[in-house]
Amino acid sequence: MYKSVDATVMRQFNKRTVLHILYQRQETSRVSISSETGLNRATVSSLVDELIAEQFVQEIGLGTSHGGRKPILLRFNANAGYAIGIDLQITHIDTVLTNTRREVVYQNRRQIGTADQPLTPQTLRDVLAEEVHAAEAVCPQSPRGILGVGVALPGLVNYETGRVTYLPNLGITDWSIAPELSEMLQVPVAIDNDANCGAWEAFLSTGISNLLFINAGIGVGAGIILNGKLHRGRDGIAGEAGHTTISTMGVVCSCGNYGCWEQYSSEQALARYLQEQGAGPVDAFAPRFVDRCIEAAQAGNHAYIQSWRTLAEALGVGISNLLQILNPDYVYLGGTIAEAATIILPEIQRVIRHRAMSANKTVPVAVLPPQTVARGAAGLAIARAIDMLPTHAG
Ligand SMILES: [Zn+2]
Repeated sequence: MYKSVDATVMRQFNKRTVLHILYQRQETSRVSISSETGLNRATVSSLVDELIAEQFVQEIGLGTSHGGRKPILLRFNANAGYAIGIDLQITHIDTVLTNTRREVVYQNRRQIGTADQPLTPQTLRDVLAEEVHAAEAVCPQSPRGILGVGVALPGLVNYETGRVTYLPNLGITDWSIAPELSEMLQVPVAIDNDANCGAWEAFLSTGISNLLFINAGIGVGAGIILNGKLHRGRDGIAGEAGHTTISTMGVVCSCGNYGCWEQYSSEQALARYLQEQGAGPVDAFAPRFVDRCIEAAQAGNHAYIQSWRTLAEALGVGISNLLQILNPDYVYLGGTIAEAATIILPEIQRVIRHRAMSANKTVPVAVLPPQTVARGAAGLAIARAIDMLPTHAG
């Protein structure tokens, strides 16, 4: 038997569609939204009026006429609300507070536990809560307040359920982090893999619809954007490139396997190369480890220069492998290792020219700023919030 769609549900669906378009465009008009969605003008006008009353949308003046009256231009209110993005790494946490356009209004880097003080879900939850409270305390007044918190995590996480499957370098498995944090903080919390957040930010900020984001720090991961969408794979764990094998008899990895790419292209690898170069005992978990390694190389220390070169070569090998599979438009490098761009990029590009085939040799590789992953996490929280907006059906 035919059953009509409930009018309230339909209106909510249409309102979300209109809001999505407004969020994606720099500016638009009621007429443009109507022609883009196929919704009649009266419906669009009524929904837009509702969104203006809720302060999500602003009228910003008159546009150009294509015959008839000039349309009133509309824009998503960048300061309608704010989101907190957190990039949880093994040695530090980057926190940002952004408006709905992911413009950063506050940022903080906090050093956390060392190798001999393993972090537990309980201690991590408390640290994350402190970071959220610190960001909330400096949040400007806005109509919608904090829209949500996005947390980027280094490992296998389920974006849909908000559960951690496995964080290899933290030794944490099966942790229902998003529901726990959400209840504790009384704000919606979304989680995703750190490299996915970086890839999402790279896509949002460049508009490049086929790209690869490599996040290299204590571990290494990849985020993949294909045709403008984050590629998550069947179980949401696509992009674990750090745990692909590049040496069958290689170094044992935190995942239990041997010869994983991240054992040759991460901070841990850099520390091992330095020891092999006779630089003495080196601790990758020590504060400012990467900064000090960059400074030593820039000062001409041979062991450090050689170690960075070896690491860059391994990064180049892994990136070449991924280029052969994905042939993206662009490769972006993020994470602490990327802060050594001036030292490692020429070597990475040399290896790619040597190893990748045909046009893959010319795929550009660029570096994104340190807060990229945290901004992507905030972007994730904003996207979630817009999708779950309360609607007031009239
Ligand atoms: Zn591994």
